Amino acid sequence: MAHTPGPWHVGRAIHWPIEIFSEDQNSICYLDNSENTDSEDNAKLIAAAPELLDMLSKLVADAYCEKGYNCCCTYCDAKLSDDGLDITHEDGCLVLDAKKVITKAKGKDE
Ligand SMILES: [Zn+2]
Repeated sequence: MAHTPGPWHVGRAIHWPIEIFSEDQNSICYLDNSENTDSEDNAKLIAAAPELLDMLSKLVADAYCEKGYNCCCTYCDAKLSDDGLDITHEDGCLVLDAKKVITKAKGKDE
C-alpha cells in the first residue's frame, strides 16, 4: 500500500498541538507535545518523509552506471552478476543501507 503523496506540511490543529497534513489538506497524523519537547522537530521530520523517500529512491536508482555488461555500483564498484540480473554490493555500501531504509519506509519485509 502506498503512502499519501507528498509534500506534507506541519500545522497546528484546534484540539491537538501539532498536526501533519497532506497537500490536499487531509490529516496525516497528530503529535502530542505535552510531554515531548522534541515533538515539533519530530513533526518536521515526519512531514519531510515523502520527499526524503523519493530523493533516496532516486539516489539509489542513480547509483548504477549505465555501461551495459559492465554496469557497476558507483559507490562500491561492484559489478553486475554473471547472469546479468543483479549486483552484489560490498559490505558497507551505502546503496545497501539505503535500500534497507526504503524497504523499512514502505513496510515490506527484507
Ligand atoms: Zn554498492
